[in-house]
Amino acid sequence: MEKKVVLSFSPELTFRSFMNDIIRDYNININIIKADIEIAKGGRLLVTLGGEEDEIAAAEKFLTDNGVVINPMGSTIKLDRDRCIACGACTSACPSGALTIGAPDWTLNFNPDKCIICKLCVKSCPMKLFSVEFAE
Ligand code: SF4
Ligand code: SF4
Repeated sequence: MEKKVVLSFSPELTFRSFMNDIIRDYNININIIKADIEIAKGGRLLVTLGGEEDEIAAAEKFLTDNGVVINPMGSTIKLDRDRCIACGACTSACPSGALTIGAPDWTLNFNPDKCIICKLCVKSCPMKLFSVEFAE
């Protein structure tokens, strides 16, 4: 079978060779369709994982156990910015630097290009302003 997913890596995970690991240890064929990732900065890979169903499931478990976030292709984080009280809870939780608050206006900034869709902001916001959207 083949499965198309987005793998998201926080900055510290970019120093590890996960793709080699799952090819070697789980017999997975990987086709990287799109890469938007930098060493020490993090990012995303859109990949096709090929192999037996149980091998793919084991490889995905290995990746998630080690902190890689796996999402269906096309999922995004949505923010209801108008109701934000700039409490900073989400910026503390965000591992990728996608959410920041700073001078001069001290309002929340969200950079979707840095988002690895880990969903920690969804849990952290006291106002419940984040949601995950999935492509059709
Ligand atoms: S899902 Fe939220 S916490 Fe996770 S990287 Fe994206 S903005 Fe940051
Ligand atoms: S946690 Fe929610 S209310 Fe607080 S800054 Fe983030 S989005 Fe705004």
